[in-house]
Amino acid sequence: MKGDNTHPRTRSLRNSNRKLSPEASVMHVKKEEDVSTGSPGPVSRSPKQAVKHEAKPDAGTKPRKKQRVKQEDPVAQQMVKLAAVSPTAYTGPFPKHMQPTPEACRAARDGLARLHGEPQHAKKVKPEPDAGGDNLHTHGQEQVLDSLVRTILSQNTTDITSHRAFASLKEAFPTWEEVLGAPSGKVEDSIRMGGLAEIKTERVKAILATLKQERGSISLEYIREMEDEELKAELTRFKGVGAKTVACVMMFCLARDEFPVDTHVWRISKKLGWVPGKANRDDTYRHMNIRVPADIRYDLHVLLVEHGKRCARCASNGKPRKESHGDCPLVNLEAGPTVKEMKEGDIVKDEDVIKKEENVIKKEDTG
Ligand SMILES: [Zn+2]
Repeated sequence: MKGDNTHPRTRSLRNSNRKLSPEASVMHVKKEEDVSTGSPGPVSRSPKQAVKHEAKPDAGTKPRKKQRVKQEDPVAQQMVKLAAVSPTAYTGPFPKHMQPTPEACRAARDGLARLHGEPQHAKKVKPEPDAGGDNLHTHGQEQVLDSLVRTILSQNTTDITSHRAFASLKEAFPTWEEVLGAPSGKVEDSIRMGGLAEIKTERVKAILATLKQERGSISLEYIREMEDEELKAELTRFKGVGAKTVACVMMFCLARDEFPVDTHVWRISKKLGWVPGKANRDDTYRHMNIRVPADIRYDLHVLLVEHGKRCARCASNGKPRKESHGDCPLVNLEAGPTVKEMKEGDIVKDEDVIKKEENVIKKEDTG
């Protein structure tokens, strides 16, 4: 996969012709990313009660441990996941927080696009030459089920390895029927390089089996006809499919106006004061999906993720994983009051919280 091998240092810093491929933007793929999967929210509240709770300005900012749902209660677990993924059911977790303004969002989008290149939209993307198999669709034409599995494989790994894992899976098992029929060990072997192969195989197979049993054929194309909320409910019922995974499928595959919040988007949103410094990722998702204008959600997501990998100021712990494209254009946007209140240590603390949550998830996953 490309992604890491582009953008030589010699390129002009503000080359507006630079294109940002959505492949590079499958930023949903990062280590800390799916920490929210299956965990957010209070255990026994109904969604309505949860609204009240979450609507308080500072609710939901405590470590999420408290709010975890026990695994043996799948119904409660799905309700919680659904609540996390349905921003329209809420007035938003930070009603008094007026950042980001539409103007700030557009300024960030434009500044980042000048630095990193205009994001390419899925439908214009050509197939990746190195992705393997004839059955691999481009993002724009991708089958919904492919997109979902691709996103599941991207959990807790880098974009590069997850793309390889997906290509390898498709090469070994060209159809979903074959994946379902194959021994788990063989499927695990095919996606081993993406990490957590056993867990991911189990989850994918469970989805395939459910679709086969319920609908007779292994496809998710039927959800294309669904409204956003119905679609979210349909997908979050599957184990291992949380708010971010659904948001990614909706944005990348279905071209819905979603704004997925991955670890980069989360971190930078806090840094810019777009959400309170202690906002957790699910609250950030709900808040940002209300505040970011619908027509730039895709661009801003893609650009923030790219930026989070390349900017020394905005990268996790100040250590970018990719080469810099130049000076940070977000500096002037740091006007939010919460930024001033934030101390250097806050971000570090957040990364610690991420790690803790990751461990919790792993325990849930494997236990
Ligand atoms: Zn930056």
